[in-house]
Amino acid sequence: MSVQVAEGLFEQAEDGARLIGSRCRGCGTTYFPQAPGCRNPDCPAPCLECAHLPQRGRLVSYTIQRYRPPPLFRMDDWTPYAIGLVDLGEGVEVMGMLTGVDLDRIVIGTSMRLVIETLYTDAARGPVATYKFAPEVTA
Ligand SMILES: [Zn+2]
Repeated sequence: MSVQVAEGLFEQAEDGARLIGSRCRGCGTTYFPQAPGCRNPDCPAPCLECAHLPQRGRLVSYTIQRYRPPPLFRMDDWTPYAIGLVDLGEGVEVMGMLTGVDLDRIVIGTSMRLVIETLYTDAARGPVATYKFAPEVTA
């Protein structure tokens, strides 16, 4: 068992991990993380409901974190890592850490899938998990 780095970001189902966002019933806008309300000024009928986001998408941008961030961000065995922006379709792009990538060989447009990994182990709470994106394995 592990806890999430922030509440309500994702869930683990039989068919894999899923991000939990929200979708507006009035205009169809999708938000991640979950939004308190629709931010579309032209929305005809703002009404948000929980929505599972697609588990796969395409990498549209990334940056590599090569220095250790301030203590607010925790990570065991810190090493440089990449943060990517993944287009999941439905007009929603999600920022997340990338895993299973060679930092010098990241390619924009790569198909990515959602995975859940332990970010660090907290003395009181135990393993703390976060979502990441890994390249789709094409065997
Ligand atoms: Zn709306």
